[in-house]
Amino acid sequence: MDAVMELVREDLRGFAGYGSARSEKLQGEVWLNANESAWPNAGDDGDGCRRYPEPQPPALAEALARLYGCKPEQLLIGRGSDEAIDLLVRALCTPGRDAVVVTPPVFGMYAVSARLQGAPLLEVPQIDGVDGFAPDLSALAETALAAGARLVFLCSPGNPTGNAIALDDIAALARKLRGRALLVVDEAYGEFSSQPSAIELLGEHDNLGVLRTLSKAHALAGARIGVLASHPALIAVLRRCQAPYPVPAPCAEIALAALAPDALARTATQVAQVRSERERMRTALADVPGVVRVYRSEGNYLLVRFADAPRAFANLLAAGIVVRDQRAAPQLGDALRITIGTAEQNDSVLRALSPGTLA
Ligand SMILES: *Cc1c(COP(=O)(O)O)cnc(C)c1O
Repeated sequence: MDAVMELVREDLRGFAGYGSARSEKLQGEVWLNANESAWPNAGDDGDGCRRYPEPQPPALAEALARLYGCKPEQLLIGRGSDEAIDLLVRALCTPGRDAVVVTPPVFGMYAVSARLQGAPLLEVPQIDGVDGFAPDLSALAETALAAGARLVFLCSPGNPTGNAIALDDIAALARKLRGRALLVVDEAYGEFSSQPSAIELLGEHDNLGVLRTLSKAHALAGARIGVLASHPALIAVLRRCQAPYPVPAPCAEIALAALAPDALARTATQVAQVRSERERMRTALADVPGVVRVYRSEGNYLLVRFADAPRAFANLLAAGIVVRDQRAAPQLGDALRITIGTAEQNDSVLRALSPGTLA
């Protein structure tokens, strides 16, 4: 047994999951094994949806593996990385016993999935320093090991904090947690970061997982395609825990088109544009009266503290601009998270925040 299997719930290690019609290795020309219709639906141009899809469409798995620099067997394709987060918590944490560790302020889905599974949630707050937020890595390791946690989530670049975590730090934490917990690095915004991906560490660390998604930089939030990259033995278990046909055929098709060379080139241009607008906005926002702090960001958003955050939120809303209110998040009572838009949209943010002045 691979060592990583010791991190999987004992009762699921031998779990076979649902044997769907598509996962049986049978060959034939007339397919009468899955109770599908013999005729296409009138609304289904091209007959693409009559049959159940492949659970993990091979062409898409190949393309994603190429994109992320790993092997298809290291990838779980899911309905957004949100599904992968949920599957990890369900497959690794026995309810009421195995804890999940998170680093607030951070993306809320880790806590939601832990709650749904009945897994204890341990919070190790990030530290707000001169260079911005940073996870307290030694406290994180200590807390996880002391509590016997099964899962530790890091978000890099951090949502909403914007900070990226150095690969050396990730590797060191994975080593400390080896055999005890899986370290998951959520790289939903990896494309916007100057840090390399933790996927390159997978070969040396069997207790590491990396989340990627087509939702943000690839502009496909509506297609719901995300992946977990990790040890093939863990990926195999998670596939058996996943719903039988998790990737809708039209979504797989759209995702595959998005990974063609010309589409990837356009994505790269947009990412470069976001990065340059991000730096322009960071400087410009710092000069806006009432702005207390603009954090550096490796994502496609900026975290901004205001002297009067409710007023800034209201001014933006009055101009028809909706941003993310962070005031309910720990340590962020005076902060808003502003997504980087087009240059025109960003200018309108500056104008709305500086009423009476020409931004
Ligand atoms: C948006 C986001 C996700 C969810 O991505 P999907 O692939 O759309 O489910 C995951 N993690 C973080 C940090 C995000 O901000």
